[in-house]
Amino acid sequence: MQFSLANVVKEQIEKASRYTNIPPYIMKILKCPMRVLRVTFPVEMDNKEVVCFTGFRCQYNNALGPTKGGVRYHPDVNEDEVIGLAALMTWKCALLDLPYGGAKGGVICDPTKLSEKELEKITRRYTAEIMPILGPHKDIPAPDVYTTAKTMAWMMDTYSMFIGHPEPAIVTGKPEVLGGSKGRKQATGRGVAISIRELYKKLGKDLKDSTVAIQGFGNVGSHTALFLEQMGARIVAISDSTCGFIDFNGLPISEIMNECTEKQKCLIEYKKLKPCAKEEILTLDVDILVPAALENQIHINNVNAIKAKVISEGANGPITTEADEVLGKRGVYVIPDILANAGGVVVSHLEWVQALSGLYWDEEEVNYHMEKRLVTAFEKVWNKAMELNISLRTAAYVVAIERIAEVYKFRGLFP
Ligand code: NAD
Repeated sequence: MQFSLANVVKEQIEKASRYTNIPPYIMKILKCPMRVLRVTFPVEMDNKEVVCFTGFRCQYNNALGPTKGGVRYHPDVNEDEVIGLAALMTWKCALLDLPYGGAKGGVICDPTKLSEKELEKITRRYTAEIMPILGPHKDIPAPDVYTTAKTMAWMMDTYSMFIGHPEPAIVTGKPEVLGGSKGRKQATGRGVAISIRELYKKLGKDLKDSTVAIQGFGNVGSHTALFLEQMGARIVAISDSTCGFIDFNGLPISEIMNECTEKQKCLIEYKKLKPCAKEEILTLDVDILVPAALENQIHINNVNAIKAKVISEGANGPITTEADEVLGKRGVYVIPDILANAGGVVVSHLEWVQALSGLYWDEEEVNYHMEKRLVTAFEKVWNKAMELNISLRTAAYVVAIERIAEVYKFRGLFP
């Protein structure tokens, strides 16, 4: 059967709802996306050929506030994936107590084969196409896989041209010079590392010298590696879409980041280490595994080979429902995506607040607020998991959907 992220997410909230008293009518609402826009648009490429691209924007639920979520550029983008990712954003914002609903967008394209000019044209036209449903109080995009601060600057500029004045609050993850928040680039990886630190505290374990493997060495994976290293852990394996590197003495993370991530180069271009197959990373005998690439990476066919005792989901939806159950039975602690990688959206919220108020904060202040919110959410999830004897994932969903259900009780149904 074909993998469906939207179905995985639906199964997860169904499971969580058994531990709540949420009225069935609210569960019906939570199982369906509120709005999905599909757009197809022509772009003239550098060689003058006109190519039609298809993109999506899903606003899953806006009970808590304007919707928030990234934009992904990838050949595998599809409507089901965008809906699933928008649902995850909905639960994530609810869990972190943010005044946001959840959204996600994407364009089917292969950015590795596009010039900067082509990427800019695609971004501007995609923004124009989804413009009717965007707005700083309607829906606020951010970067995701293969989109960056530069992509956000083009989106912000296009939106501003249409409305006739600059609107920095329309996107987050912008370049700092344009009102991007300090600490935003590092925020998701920093949050993943904090989530692992908090779990280790609960388990009475020391991060010092614990071994870590990280799948995906983009924004999330590389910063997770950096912060875990600062906390004393040893990063022994990393991978990207081209290859992996393994060294049980510890990898030179800062140097690889300077040579590859900062220059937008692939790991295979780093010549000082012997590459291995990227698939080897997932099944290494390490203490901590961080999948930080794409969804559906740990599934029924490889879950039995996973040896890590702690998994923190840097990526959204990297573990299928069946694999999650196997890991749970084996006593593996899984810090779910909606908690582990929420540092990004927390700082995005801070960036939006800064843009709306016109008052900008230093990095210390941003990091302080992010950490506080993340640790509070971790505590809620841990306590719920202990109280009900359920997994951290189910506990995170229970906390998230209970908050949305509470809001529905006050807002009621329109008309
Ligand atoms: P990115 O484009 O910066 O990095 C993605 C990385 O994954 C790249 O290094 C790519 O080469 C690698 N990759 C792709 N396929 C792979 C494979 N099969 N094996 C190993 N590596 C592979 O994207 P990102 O922003 O770091 O996002 C990664 C994940 O984190 C996504 O699931 C995204 O939704 C999630 N996420 C991102 C943010 C954020 O702030 N950027 C926030 C929350 C969640």
